[in-house]
Amino acid sequence: MSQPLTHNCLNCQEPLYHDFKLHYLWQFKKVLFPVLCLSCQQKFDCLEKIYQDKKNGCHLCGLLLSDDATEDALTRKYHHDGQLICYHCKHWRTKYPIELIRHQAIYPHNELIQDWLSSFKDKGDIMLGYIMAEKLGKIYKQYKNYLWVVLPNSKELLEQRQFHATGLLLDFADIPYTCPFNYVGDGKKQTMKEGTERTELIQPFEVNTEEIKEASILVFDDNYTTGTAIIHAKSALAKTYPEKIIKSITISR
Ligand SMILES: [Zn+2]
Ligand SMILES: [Zn+2]
Repeated sequence: MSQPLTHNCLNCQEPLYHDFKLHYLWQFKKVLFPVLCLSCQQKFDCLEKIYQDKKNGCHLCGLLLSDDATEDALTRKYHHDGQLICYHCKHWRTKYPIELIRHQAIYPHNELIQDWLSSFKDKGDIMLGYIMAEKLGKIYKQYKNYLWVVLPNSKELLEQRQFHATGLLLDFADIPYTCPFNYVGDGKKQTMKEGTERTELIQPFEVNTEEIKEASILVFDDNYTTGTAIIHAKSALAKTYPEKIIKSITISR
């Protein structure tokens, strides 16, 4: 989907000054004009760097972990096979093979990402989806041979929101994708509190196609909270396609 030209930073509304000469020079090549001012771009870039520094992150999902044992259980450090992992991964490790648990996120889910996501998704300011277009375009180059898939929304959510958030992010980034699932869940948001095992019993997705040609599948979602949705989706795919490589990526964790 071609990106509209924006005259103000999509994050802070500061005016943007575009270099149109650049557009002229590269007229045969697709040019993405910036949608963020330099300072906002830096905020997103710094956040991404924090996540690439794996020293203090969960070995399997990248979640930033804390040394302080009195911290919230979710960011506490756990050890598994000599590796540092998080609470959720420790939990999933008891139920699923490691390949289904490994996950990549682009950003930690901090205030910046939370605000962006809630304005885009919940308030419906869809233009904000273009903030991720360039980043996703770069990631697409690494996963060009993968079939990108998104998770289905419940009918109620889709009616309420009027757009499919993750599908729209991929449309904006010109990434082809499909949704090979039927949603068979109850529409309730799934949460996983410490000690609760209810959620992993409910498989909300059913694979509805047997015609995936690609050898590898990449499940794309906006945020990885507990991993419930992503891991269920990957496990449903793995059941139908046990021979395929199945990976997952989200904007945030
Ligand atoms: Zn800005
Ligand atoms: Zn983890």
